[in-house]
Amino acid sequence: MNDTVRCPECCNELRQGYIFSSRRICWSESADSIFADFGSEEVLIDDAIFKISKIPAFRCEKCNLVIFKHK
Ligand SMILES: [Zn+2]
Repeated sequence: MNDTVRCPECCNELRQGYIFSSRRICWSESADSIFADFGSEEVLIDDAIFKISKIPAFRCEKCNLVIFKHK
C-alpha cells in the first residue's frame, strides 16, 4: 500500500499533520458575508466548547495548500 498523498497542484509529497481550531470553520460557495446570506454556508468543523478541535490534514509547503477531511 502506497499511502503517500500528493499535492493536486504540484505533485509534491504532502506532509501529514493536524489543524487545530477552537472556532467553527465554515464553507460557502459565495464570497459574500455569511451573515448577509445566513443558511447557505455549511459548518465543516463545529465550535469546540470544552476542547480544541484536532483535524487530520495534509499540507503542501510549496503551494501553501492544506487538505483536510472534516468528517
Ligand atoms: Zn503543491
